[in-house]
Amino acid sequence: MSSFPSFSYHSAKLHVESVSLERIAVEFGTPCYVYSHATLTAAYREFDSAFAGRDHLICYAVKANSNLAILNLFARLGSGFDIVSGGELKRVLNAGGDPQKVVFSGVGKHPEEMRAALAAGIFCFNVESEAELLRLNQIAAEMNKLAPVSLRVNPDVDARTHPYISTGLKENKFGIPFDEAEKLYLSAQQFSNIRFTGLDCHIGSQLTELNPFIEAAEKVLALLARLEAQGSRIEHLDLGGGLGIRYSSETPPLARDYVAALCAKIGQRSQRILIEPGRALVGNSGLLLTRVEYLKHTPYRDFAIVDAAMNDLIRPALYDAYHEVLPVTVSEENAKMYQIVGPVCETGDFLGHDRRLSLRQGDLLAVMSAGAYGMSMSSNYNTRPRAAEVMVEGDHIHLIRERESVEQLIAHERILP
Ligand SMILES: *Cc1c(COP(=O)(O)O)cnc(C)c1O
Repeated sequence: MSSFPSFSYHSAKLHVESVSLERIAVEFGTPCYVYSHATLTAAYREFDSAFAGRDHLICYAVKANSNLAILNLFARLGSGFDIVSGGELKRVLNAGGDPQKVVFSGVGKHPEEMRAALAAGIFCFNVESEAELLRLNQIAAEMNKLAPVSLRVNPDVDARTHPYISTGLKENKFGIPFDEAEKLYLSAQQFSNIRFTGLDCHIGSQLTELNPFIEAAEKVLALLARLEAQGSRIEHLDLGGGLGIRYSSETPPLARDYVAALCAKIGQRSQRILIEPGRALVGNSGLLLTRVEYLKHTPYRDFAIVDAAMNDLIRPALYDAYHEVLPVTVSEENAKMYQIVGPVCETGDFLGHDRRLSLRQGDLLAVMSAGAYGMSMSSNYNTRPRAAEVMVEGDHIHLIRERESVEQLIAHERILP
């Protein structure tokens, strides 16, 4: 249980901080995402304090979990934000985030999104192609603005993670090859309304080793040295996100060791350091609370059919990802090997395979490590309203997103006259 310090059993009942999950299920219903204020805060502080005196900016990757209350909590702690859409920009601004601490990543920025980000005065655009640079230059010129830009280079390192979330290989769609990036920086005067302020990379997600990060940093630092030798002034280095978390038996580096290793590699250089952690800040701060609807025993398998499904948490279906499933009330009697499945009409709709649990109809289960890429990747497939979200702070439960209604889901649809 050490991965989840704020989630623990008291009198055989699973609690989040001082609140029992049973109480949350009664008050807010299921399925329900539950986050711990203390764990979110501790995760941010671990990254932040590891920089100890060095000029740095932590840009929380909003796509991992974009609930306004979570963005607001990080903004209050001093965090910046890594956004990948105009929608995420709006969330950050509505949550009280400082636009001067926002970096805008992504390969397909729309002109409207560029305009909104220029109008807000964000810290930096992480640009991923020459075509994007040309478009940004033109839009900035129309608005009579100077766009701060960092080119996202593709360091061609193997993040050794799931292929869908590996982004730093030369065959991926992300980033710009080094030699091309170098040429673009050195032709800066060609872009009248661009100011090259930084250099960045992001090699993938759920990395459980330090080496690929170090290898990428070395390559980026070598490019930085070449650029500086040719007279470019680079003010910040953004090394992206991607630090993994423990879902089952992984042993990812601690945030403080990861930051210390990056700082050691960068040494005495004067640049401000940016990182863009998403999963490592929120993943183990949240769980998905669900209730067993039915137990179904066949000659081949025992199924626990729960009220959460792949539309609520798609990671098992999409990446064959593992999430620990814990009983909310501990019991030892009559344990069986269960397939934990949802109500959606797909065989891919499972939350866990072969989990040894003692279950009765109506029991509650906690799907752990669901704070990242859970709610933010959820959908309304099967016309299922999305789950409620709550944040526990000590003995207090804050509702941070109401459960959707079916009326809301169909409100924008029209039948023919
Ligand atoms: C997704 C993403 C991140 C965050 O990745 P995590 O694995 O959640 O830390 C950071 N930067 C960029 C550019 C991303 O696309």
